Amino acid sequence: MQAVKFTGHGDTDVIEYGDFPDPDPAYDEVLVDVKAGALNHLDVWTRRGLPHIDLEMPHVPGSDAAGVVDAVGDGVSRFEPGDRVALLAGTWCGECEYCRDGDVAMCVNFGVIGEHKPGVHSEFAAIPERNLVPVPEGVDWETAAAAPLVFQTAWRMLISRGDVSPGEDVLVLGASGGVGHAAVQIADHAGATVYATGSSDEKLEYARECGADHVVNYETADFASEIRDLTGKRGVDVVVDHVGAATWTDSLASLAKGGRLLTCGATTGPAPETNINRIFWNQLQVIGSTMATPGEADDVLELVWDGTFEPRIRDVLPMSRTVRAHEMLENREGFGKVVVKPDSEL
Ligand SMILES: [Zn+2]
Repeated sequence: MQAVKFTGHGDTDVIEYGDFPDPDPAYDEVLVDVKAGALNHLDVWTRRGLPHIDLEMPHVPGSDAAGVVDAVGDGVSRFEPGDRVALLAGTWCGECEYCRDGDVAMCVNFGVIGEHKPGVHSEFAAIPERNLVPVPEGVDWETAAAAPLVFQTAWRMLISRGDVSPGEDVLVLGASGGVGHAAVQIADHAGATVYATGSSDEKLEYARECGADHVVNYETADFASEIRDLTGKRGVDVVVDHVGAATWTDSLASLAKGGRLLTCGATTGPAPETNINRIFWNQLQVIGSTMATPGEADDVLELVWDGTFEPRIRDVLPMSRTVRAHEMLENREGFGKVVVKPDSEL
């Protein structure tokens, strides 16, 4: 079969599309005929190389995909050939104290398919049954591939961890990214007043279409002071920051007393300076979140499948143009998700 593969860690020149051994479904695994995949920023991190993650090369990337069940291994009971499915990329041990307590997203051995283990941007992928969810008829492959990772991440962060409530003010940074545009939709659906930042008027118009009530262009304005102006100096109840070092100080400065800073990533770097005085004096909370449980994913994907939430598709590319997909993410071009399809599907 054909697969996207990283020949090593480095710049985009390590990305290839070519022959790769056909996968064989092991016990409890499902062989999926992949119709579409989607990029996430973690594909860029995985390509560059992450400390403490030692990948076998060549590595097939990809943590989002959807397709049709081609065959099932022994022990598979929920799926049969012909079923439409999408991937939930989180993996957990099932044995640690958090797994035993039912919150598998807290697993001490938590991993992500595509990041810690081989991914799914290939013509076929063998995937553990528990990592698949059914995709209803009528949902297109682009939507089914683009939604799962970012919507489950944003859902757990805002709803389960962040407890966003009707009437609260929620600021979403980087609303044009995958998690950002999902967070805007979820905060709006939760009844919050949504503030969103973006780097161009065009992106901010999309953010408004996703449900943002107020938008701030961070290229032309200081978002923390804009938020103070927009909220009568009070600040917002919640900031969603997946940007990291570049925005952290201003995120804390945008919070009202007792506010919550929700973080699920740090694309601009992980080690900003923090003014601790501001955290204790204003009695702020910093709340981390990553991925989601299958139950949380079910809850949010139901709202994707029925059209309440909609992943915006930035572009659809053949998998042989994955280099271009990485460039779009790294250059922050466009709004929403970059979808890739096996060249044989186009
Ligand atoms: Zn565990």
